[in-house]
Amino acid sequence: MVTTRTAHRDEPHFLFADDGVPLTLVRVRGGAASHKGPVLLVHGLANRSESFRPPVSRSIVDVLIDDGWDVWMLNWRGSIDLDPLPWTLDDVAVNDHPAAVRYITEVTGSETVKVVAHCVGAMTMSMSVVGGLLPEVDVLIANGVSLHPVLPRGGRVKLHTIRALMQHRQPFVDVAWGDGPEHGVARLTRTSVRMWHIECRNPACNMASFALGSGHPALFRHENLDDATHDWLGGEFGKVPMSFYTQMAASDRRKEVVALPGQGREGFAPRWAGAAPRSDTRFALLTGRHNRAFLPESQRATFAFLERHQPGRHSLRVLPRYGHSDVFFGSRAHNEVFPLIVAELNR
Ligand SMILES: [Zn+2]
Repeated sequence: MVTTRTAHRDEPHFLFADDGVPLTLVRVRGGAASHKGPVLLVHGLANRSESFRPPVSRSIVDVLIDDGWDVWMLNWRGSIDLDPLPWTLDDVAVNDHPAAVRYITEVTGSETVKVVAHCVGAMTMSMSVVGGLLPEVDVLIANGVSLHPVLPRGGRVKLHTIRALMQHRQPFVDVAWGDGPEHGVARLTRTSVRMWHIECRNPACNMASFALGSGHPALFRHENLDDATHDWLGGEFGKVPMSFYTQMAASDRRKEVVALPGQGREGFAPRWAGAAPRSDTRFALLTGRHNRAFLPESQRATFAFLERHQPGRHSLRVLPRYGHSDVFFGSRAHNEVFPLIVAELNR
């Protein structure tokens, strides 16, 4: 039997991060009974757990269910399904992921949890893992970026100039400005972005390129998306807090993820990759060769860091025809990408 979206039965779970912020988990049951243990899907920046279920013929959720996994999807505090609040990468790594993984082990009785994470979800999960906060995670499949964000030149210019201009006027950049009738900064931003991104008439696609990378478009290659998914994407992006961009600017200067001054957590160095990983977790790093949100050098740098400390344990795969989000949203991802993910989970 082949699972499709109509066969999904969602089981919502409500929990709190370790600092009290409300989070949700969605456990997805399908046609096939799970016999392989829990896999946690962790969404990217300005997305939500639902973003793992685009209107493609086979989503990653379908494929994992059919391979026998117990699929859980997390809405961490940056999810557009939760009330927007300012957050830093450290907030998520220290408070959200450990609470979510612990919750899953308690409900399922499983001692281990495998994780498939995208974008900033992958970044914060990597921080939790190397910080020794997730001993239950035995495998982390991280797409796009982990501990060493390397941005394209246009992204760096926006991060260090436009951010500085917007910072005191707007607490958030809202990708959904692509739709709205707002005034002031929002309207000016939307109009400028649409004039710059003439490659596509979808306003959400344009705003995502502005807010989340640098390229035409930034997050995926148009040829990898079907029309239904490209339209659907308009509803899958929301707000990014300025606190995120501020931390990214600091991390960009250091070429690795660092805590903001005064924001680092007790017991943790401001440099998350400043010492050997405090974990046995096996990393399987993925990225697209055409990634314009975080250049492939990002994952190469993290792989070099992991290899230096734990040689021969981890893997890196650069997908030749992919960008950033199309690794999960692409119309051929079920043939070209998901088998690689399933193989890493089963290894
Ligand atoms: Zn587009």
